Amino acid sequence: CGIVGYIGTQAATEILLSGLEKLEYRGYDSAGIATILEGDINCVRAKGKLHNLRSKLESIENPAQIGIGHTRWATHGKPEEYNAHPHMDTPNRVAVVQNGIVENYRELREELKSFGVEFRSETDTEVIPHLISRFLQEEIALGEAYSPFFEAVRKAVGQLNGAFAIAAVSADFPDELIVVRQQAPLVIGFGQGEFFCASDTPAIVSYTRAVLPLDNGEIARLTPLGVEVYDFTGKRLKKQPRLLNLSP
Ligand code: GLU
Repeated sequence: CGIVGYIGTQAATEILLSGLEKLEYRGYDSAGIATILEGDINCVRAKGKLHNLRSKLESIENPAQIGIGHTRWATHGKPEEYNAHPHMDTPNRVAVVQNGIVENYRELREELKSFGVEFRSETDTEVIPHLISRFLQEEIALGEAYSPFFEAVRKAVGQLNGAFAIAAVSADFPDELIVVRQQAPLVIGFGQGEFFCASDTPAIVSYTRAVLPLDNGEIARLTPLGVEVYDFTGKRLKKQPRLLNLSP
């Protein structure tokens, strides 16, 4: 239901939580965030209000500078913590949040199960990190991609039918946040050496007013150095942020 992402030089957790709070009006049944620190993903999720997630995170000092967050409005699977986003692949190296619906998730789930993948949720979303993980192994073995993680997300998205927006991070590529828009809104925010993404601008306007709404069929790679936008075939697109003119 709501997506927020951050990559930059500040501690990500508070930025993600405050962003999710701005999206509360959309309604949700659970929430979670995943950050990357020292080569590991730290994923924390909670059923119910954001306050529940906040209390789980309070005792943890987390200086991670990259992360993704989500508020969920369940469409596939009960509103329980194990169905809350982010969802991860089996070794917990890739984390994904999704808004929308992956229509062909049943077929993908069966196919992944036939390769021995074990599922930990009932959602349509969980197929995405598992697909990314499989493509990532291929990309790394090939050793040709400019960004193996970007390529893996791009190829995984090629398998999905439906209307969705996605944000993904990998513990093995801690300087990359990949976001996708396909019939569900996704905006990118541009700061100084920091970049944001969200399903709706209120989540990021207190940090930046330079925004780029993605169009359908676009996938972007956010790093601490900048933002690259591509179409689903991997062709680079020329895109510039525009300044939001909001009265305070
Ligand atoms: N279909 C996904 C799920 O049920 C995402 C729902 C949403 O947009 O919050 O987990």
